[in-house]
Amino acid sequence: MVAFSVLSAMHDADVLGFSFGIPYDAPYGHRGASHSIVAGLMLGLLAGWLGKLAGCSWGRTTAIACAVAVSHGLLDAFTDGGRGIALLWPFSNERFFSPWQPFPVSPLGMGIFSLWGLRVLVVELVFFSPLLAFALWPSARQRGPRPSRTPRP
Ligand SMILES: [Zn+2]
Repeated sequence: MVAFSVLSAMHDADVLGFSFGIPYDAPYGHRGASHSIVAGLMLGLLAGWLGKLAGCSWGRTTAIACAVAVSHGLLDAFTDGGRGIALLWPFSNERFFSPWQPFPVSPLGMGIFSLWGLRVLVVELVFFSPLLAFALWPSARQRGPRPSRTPRP
């Protein structure tokens, strides 16, 4: 879960480009190439390969990693700020938004530690709480064997 969480957040490392003068709207700017479907698939394949080196199933790890990595750009398109997502890079630099934008855009950098950042976290926590509950719910294997219904002698 920690590795997949890191994977899902890696796309936003593109904000470092601001320090090097890369404009927001540039192909390699924030929410540009790094947020595309192609970049997500490449990251997913890389994560699958790393998972295989760590002894995990290549197919299963790659499938989950691709879903996690591609979902970042898609979910960012559901936010109400920024300048859109270059989902189709390298085929197009056009930036896209979803017609429905239920999520407030997150502040960049240390701005997350603000009232605005807290609002973003609360909205996302409420929206994704069913998935969080599913992820944290103990599986049957973790709960241990079911008690036997047959009387013991
Ligand atoms: Zn992002």
